Amino acid sequence: MSSIFVPPPIQQINSEIAQRAGVDLQVLRLDCMHPWVNGNKWFKLKYNLLEAKQKNFRTLLTFGGAYSNHIFATAAAGNLFGFRTIGVIRGEERLPLNPTLSFALQQGMQLVYLHREMYRQRQTMALEAELRQRFGEVFIIPEGGSNLNGVRGSMEIISQVGVFDTICVACGTGTTLAGIALSLHKGQRAIAFPVLKNGQFLAAEVDSLLTNYLASGLPTPFDSPGSWQLVCDYHFGGYAKVNDQLWQFAQQFTKDYAIPLDYVYTAKMFYGIMDLLQQGFFHKGDRILLIHTGGLQGNVGIEQRRK
Ligand SMILES: *Cc1c(COP(=O)(O)O)cnc(C)c1O
Repeated sequence: MSSIFVPPPIQQINSEIAQRAGVDLQVLRLDCMHPWVNGNKWFKLKYNLLEAKQKNFRTLLTFGGAYSNHIFATAAAGNLFGFRTIGVIRGEERLPLNPTLSFALQQGMQLVYLHREMYRQRQTMALEAELRQRFGEVFIIPEGGSNLNGVRGSMEIISQVGVFDTICVACGTGTTLAGIALSLHKGQRAIAFPVLKNGQFLAAEVDSLLTNYLASGLPTPFDSPGSWQLVCDYHFGGYAKVNDQLWQFAQQFTKDYAIPLDYVYTAKMFYGIMDLLQQGFFHKGDRILLIHTGGLQGNVGIEQRRK
């Protein structure tokens, strides 16, 4: 299953800001692993697909918004690894399909729409039962791939990289952060940037993912998570909100360092990092690894809507 992926390259950012702060800044480019199945979404899917295969399921069913990176990745991964896929999309169908959903359809995903109230019940047994009745034997993956299999896969994100003191990642549900926290070595710390407003609530979510994971009997390299913290000041007004400042930052950053950023997640984290470096947040000599979690597919839709 891993053979189609390029190992993620690590790229140094030679910026004056980093030099002045006395830190070493490197980026782990998960966006480069595969043209469609990449970023943290692949890591969160991996053990879900393995479990589905092992249990002889032929169809994956999952949930997401109309611009979802997870829907995009599941459609492509299902197609690559021989699963039928069903995407349950929040809201009503809008034609013509946006680039994310038309890609999913091309990959063979069946698209089903649930109006918002119904969609809110996506994690209830009642709705799952209804979906099973309608679609038969389906392996259900939660929105975003955010289950313990997702945590398990995320533990592999930094397993192949060299020595770093600080690992930084953008954060939506906190599943990826939980996996990273479980794979930290002694003396390492993780810093996570929620992209939603009032992201502090994620601390409890991450705690409960960690507790559930450790109680599950699934494998871990260590008995307890390493130290992690949330930095909640860089949400730019909320999920998928993009103002001119963020827009311009992302364009300039790509020009300066040849690293494309997505507007929903990575641009907010990278902005936060550059800002914190100027405020003296990091220690001199800190070796910092920024995880590029992918998500670039969503830029097409955002750029269209902005015009
Ligand atoms: C989904 C996503 C995240 C957030 O991952 P969580 O595990 O939900 O915290 C971060 N970056 C990108 C590009 C994503 O697509």
